[in-house]
Amino acid sequence: MSFLNFFKKKKDEPSKKSEKNTHPPKPNISTEMVAARKGEIGEYKIDIQLDQLPKDILYLSDLLIENKKAKSGYSQIDHVILSPYGIIVIETKNYKGTIYGGKERNTWLVNGKFKMMNPFVQNYGHIQALKTLVDLNHKEIFISMVSFTKRCTFKVGVDYRKITSDELLVYDIELSEFIHRKISTLKLQHKEPLLSSDDISIIYKRFSNANIADAKIRERHTQALKNQTINEVTNQPFTCAKCHKPVSAKVRSYCLSKQKFKGEIYCFDHQKAIK
Ligand SMILES: [Zn+2]
Repeated sequence: MSFLNFFKKKKDEPSKKSEKNTHPPKPNISTEMVAARKGEIGEYKIDIQLDQLPKDILYLSDLLIENKKAKSGYSQIDHVILSPYGIIVIETKNYKGTIYGGKERNTWLVNGKFKMMNPFVQNYGHIQALKTLVDLNHKEIFISMVSFTKRCTFKVGVDYRKITSDELLVYDIELSEFIHRKISTLKLQHKEPLLSSDDISIIYKRFSNANIADAKIRERHTQALKNQTINEVTNQPFTCAKCHKPVSAKVRSYCLSKQKFKGEIYCFDHQKAIK
């Protein structure tokens, strides 16, 4: 599907399930960090990269599938790549700044201050949810990939950047390069494809069928994430950095979206004090 068709489809049939389901309607927010996702420009660039993958590779974007183990009851999965040599599950992040993290850490830091859940822990949950939809012999072929925009700098250790790793951290602009390199590496390791083209179509159909396209459920899910007032990492309410009064989800989103607050959250009164 072309770039223009995507816009057309989105405009013409906002709630109807897309036939091929490659690009279901995209809600405006991501998973846990509403404000961290600034527009969808990065997402479109990723879609263009994915559209250019070889013909034997299928992909799906913005899946919302039921997941009883998730707090919200759902997993929202940004992209899934179905290749003959493995299934790559991609989580995209739009944070800005220096990302500090590591494999052994459940909590990562943005600019040394703002806590985020280790995105690979989050994506592991997504992969577990997808695994329930594939046959037993296809459960061990998942690769976890997390993509950040170029507005970030990684301080995460080298392991996530090694192509042999099954957990890869990439910048959005190098996403297709990493997908190609990863698949080539897997090809060398396995010689024989792990999935036939029939397997790939079957899995594609199962993932499409599991996707919740219902606009009302999607909207409810989006709202539930937007209204989070508890930091899932610390399990504490979000509070003002100056007076420590709890703030609403709206205030938190607003502060995180403003560069001048440098990743801090302030109550209404203290926002005025920040130049
Ligand atoms: Zn305050």
